[in-house]
Amino acid sequence: MSVIANRPKGTQDVLPADVYKWQTVERCAAGTAECFGFKEIRFPTFENTALFKRSVGDTTDVVQKEMYGVTAKSPANGKDPDDLTLRPEGTAGAARAAIENGLLKEVLPQKVYYMISCFRHERPQAGRLREFHQFGAEMYGSGDASADAEVIAMAKSLLDRLGLTNVELFINSIGCPECRAEYHKALKEYFGKHKDELCPTCLDRLDRNPMRILDCKSPICQGIAKDAPVILDFLCDECSAHFEKLKASLTDMDIEFSIDPKIVRGLDYYTKTVFEFITKDIGAQGTVCGGGRYDGLIEQLGGDPLPALGFAMGLERIIMTMENAGSEFVPARKCDLYIASMGEAAQRRAAVLANKLRAEGYFVEFDTMGRGLKPQMKYANKIGATFTMVLGDNELDAGKAKLKNMESGEQTDISLGDSFIDEFSNDLIAEMFKDPLDSI
Ligand code: ATP
Ligand code: MG
Repeated sequence: MSVIANRPKGTQDVLPADVYKWQTVERCAAGTAECFGFKEIRFPTFENTALFKRSVGDTTDVVQKEMYGVTAKSPANGKDPDDLTLRPEGTAGAARAAIENGLLKEVLPQKVYYMISCFRHERPQAGRLREFHQFGAEMYGSGDASADAEVIAMAKSLLDRLGLTNVELFINSIGCPECRAEYHKALKEYFGKHKDELCPTCLDRLDRNPMRILDCKSPICQGIAKDAPVILDFLCDECSAHFEKLKASLTDMDIEFSIDPKIVRGLDYYTKTVFEFITKDIGAQGTVCGGGRYDGLIEQLGGDPLPALGFAMGLERIIMTMENAGSEFVPARKCDLYIASMGEAAQRRAAVLANKLRAEGYFVEFDTMGRGLKPQMKYANKIGATFTMVLGDNELDAGKAKLKNMESGEQTDISLGDSFIDEFSNDLIAEMFKDPLDSI
């Protein structure tokens, strides 16, 4: 097939028949975030490349290998085009927007969430795409471990609400720049002994950012990293106390966790707490949520120093896990009424009546294809209309029609005059049309 008929590698279409799954997760995520006092923030799909280099880090896989640049075909005035990049994640853009718009000078803590597409040039596989979607949350202003516990509790609350009980929480602390200096020395010494075996990227990292080697995906580097010194042995008193308080707070809230001293996360901005929620149910790409504290980032991006933390969930992986777990999705809304019509006058009346009901929030369809009665009823069946009504010359003359409950087959008379809406929305019927999203 030609390029125009194929989607780019590593991207997905979400078809109308499946979109209810996305809507379930998005509605639940927004609802959960709001319960914790987070407000939605929206920011651009692309940013200045320097923002990502500075925040995500020059020596990370994301910056070194995975970013998509954006180039304008015809830069204005023949000037150099801006150096722009599609966002590979949301933390940097959200922080930039918070600083630039003065949010961090308002009341603290500031708590924001977002639902965004992200772009990374990776090898596509199950659970790994080039365009993927994240639900992310960020909290600015608190350096206290209670905030770490709060952010983890929010992620956990959403996972629970989505029916994902088989997802495990792993936490670690990667310390502050102070304790990390000692740790870097120990890592350099350890990996220095394995110089000949490391992949070329890690060899480069050895000098500049040895902790990155712990996050390398190469099986050989991973094998060597297994016996590397662990950061927890190098934490300073403050980072240690912070980690202890986090563990105690999670225990208070009955949130189960394991400590995995190997978690360093793929982004350079993290300090102290890092965490991942992992499932074994969807194959190798089982990290459904990753997050942590990034106390230095706001200052690094030009804001006043301010501690911050957050997480991001991969929505494709969340949906895969829900499908696997047999979680419930809120079904797509069904058509309340299909008005079949015979003849032009009836069809025009159908349009008027349909619009009256729609203005009241009902989901109504009628024929716009000029089809006969039989194919119209077939269509009504196919879309699963709860009620149908047939309009022809007789009904228009009489000013009333028969409303048919498609499940029970029961028919009732309904006036086509002024009382049409009232009769349609009588208590019995209204009961059947409760917004399914109310149950979330
Ligand atoms: P991984 O180790 O799986 O590469 P990461 O550390 O690169 O993940 P983050 O940058 O922390 O991931 O992104 C947060 C979440 O976004 C991940 O836990 C995952 O659920 C999701 N995610 C990251 N990259 C992809 C991708 N290429 N395709 C689909 N989801 C992704
Ligand atoms: Mg990655």
